[in-house]
Amino acid sequence: MEEIEIERESMEYDVVIVGAGPAGLSTAIKLKQLCDEASKNISICVVEKGSEVGAHILSGNVFDPKALNELIPDWKNAGAPLNTPVKNDSVRYFVSDSTSFPIPTLLATTFKNHGNYIMSLGNFCRWLAEQAEALEIDIFPGFTASHLIYEDNKVIGISTGDMGIDASGNKKPSFEPGMDLRAKYTVLSEGCRGHLGKEIISKFYYGIGFKEVWDIDPELHQEGLVIHTMGWPAAKNVLSGSYFYHGENNQAFIGYIVPLDYDNPHISPFEEFQQWKHQSSIQKYLNGGTRVAYGARALVKGGHQSLPKMNFPGGLLAGDDAGTMNFPRIKGTHTAMKSGMLAAETIFEGIQNKNSTDNLESYASKLKSSWLETELLKARNFLPLIHKYGTLLGVVLAGIDQLVFRGKLPFTLHHDVPDHKCLKKADEMPKIDYLKPNGVISFDKLSSVFLSNTNHAEDQPCHLVLTDPSIPISTNLPLYDEPAQRYCPAGVYEIIEKGNEKIFQINSQNCVHCKTCDIKDPTQNINWIAPEGSGGPNYPNM
Ligand SMILES: Cc1cc2nc3c(=O)[nH]c(=O)nc-3n(C[C@H](O)[C@H](O)[C@H](O)COP(=O)(O)OP(=O)(O)OC[C@H]3O[C@@H](n4cnc5c(N)ncnc54)[C@H](O)[C@@H]3O)c2cc1C
Ligand code: SF4
Repeated sequence: MEEIEIERESMEYDVVIVGAGPAGLSTAIKLKQLCDEASKNISICVVEKGSEVGAHILSGNVFDPKALNELIPDWKNAGAPLNTPVKNDSVRYFVSDSTSFPIPTLLATTFKNHGNYIMSLGNFCRWLAEQAEALEIDIFPGFTASHLIYEDNKVIGISTGDMGIDASGNKKPSFEPGMDLRAKYTVLSEGCRGHLGKEIISKFYYGIGFKEVWDIDPELHQEGLVIHTMGWPAAKNVLSGSYFYHGENNQAFIGYIVPLDYDNPHISPFEEFQQWKHQSSIQKYLNGGTRVAYGARALVKGGHQSLPKMNFPGGLLAGDDAGTMNFPRIKGTHTAMKSGMLAAETIFEGIQNKNSTDNLESYASKLKSSWLETELLKARNFLPLIHKYGTLLGVVLAGIDQLVFRGKLPFTLHHDVPDHKCLKKADEMPKIDYLKPNGVISFDKLSSVFLSNTNHAEDQPCHLVLTDPSIPISTNLPLYDEPAQRYCPAGVYEIIEKGNEKIFQINSQNCVHCKTCDIKDPTQNINWIAPEGSGGPNYPNM
């Protein structure tokens, strides 16, 4: 392999922000607003690995506008794409494919959505990016932050990835070196399981979330209706749940979330999702409809007790990169935005103080005295209660915690086992027979990935790096029936046979960047690193 020696161009910014999601864009906008008010010049850039802002964003999304009201109070006149207020909430428990019963929203307090909006988070981020650009913030889509730059143990910016390197690591004729973006302050807001954020923190608990967008029969569409479900077809002791949001233009945003602390390696979250669509109270809306988009993304469920230290020398973490999602509400947009806004306030103080980074610790106290702390604190025992006491008793106790004690139980339960350590041996756990997809309501992985418009430039180094290439066949296959074949929502990992030999094949071009393999591989042997910029899904309105 050719040793690549590269001279990189370098650019200086006051602040570099990684990721143009709600957290990163809110950080940029809030900081520029504060500097403009104080007549301070500041240069801010945001790098985004998607081919455009929104291309890698996937979310439900029912949006709580609390943070937006603070960031851009005049958002209605500024054209924010919030056109569908929630009109009706419904929560159901599925007993089987044909039987279900309603859970009063009085009990399921976390699913009350009055005052919220059904929207596409991808489109909302596109709009936020327009607001940022109007404030002269530089946004660079198609650029991946691949490394942190350190000086004297302090982060002083990021390097963007090189383009045009072949699968063996050699330069192609199209080679273009990445750039060093140096900054006084670096903000990591890469979303759940950020690959740079992982360098700074290592402890977390996750779920995998799926989403499909459907055009549904106008006769069956009820704009503003929000449905959440629990129960069937979730595997034993797994608190999978779902959402079905009736958005604008006769579209439905539907999805399914499986916590990644499941113990049965035979579970296939993708197939559970496909099966769920056949429950009679879901299928009745999909009959005659057309699926137009598909995607998947990991989400953070650790909650308040899993939040890491959110500042590091030279920078701050914001949003899901730090784990600010309120999982019991399935809401992380407003909390990501708020953490970004508080990161901006922290940096602004430093800028006012001769660009000092000494004050970054004060981010923690700002978080502590904000509504974000109150909200996450209230939700902190919800999931651990269910994990400890199971899906029936646990749900009742979690309901009592929220309804009677308003999340103020005088103790905090902790998540004690990381997700990748939860798997039991394949021969100790029951196999699961999932329904075969019918190609109308339910589908296979390949036709689904097709709808994510995923694309990676051919002939580039594989971005799914195995620490030890022998482990999938020597360890994971005999012990866990190599679960990557089932937990990956894009069919990237396959066991194929050549002659008498079993081979672990990685179809990396199909990867939708959900990061589940990086989280759930039982031996932590798979390392997701950022591929060449622009690679990955191209989601339209996810
Ligand atoms: C299935 C599902 C349903 C959900 N439903 C809801 C809901 O109904 N309501 C709600 O409020 N929340 C919901 N959430 C949660 C919500 O989407 C997240 O909490 C929120 O998007 C977090 O914002 P963020 O800015 O931290 O990260 P993200 O939205 O993930 O944005 C991160 C951005 O950074 C980019 N990026 C990552 N790494 C790099 C890199 N190295 N270089 C350059 N760019 C990079 C990514 O491409 C992405 O654009 C849901 C999540 C899922 C998965
Ligand atoms: S390879 Fe990993 S990150 Fe990519 S889609 Fe599969 S599980 Fe997700």
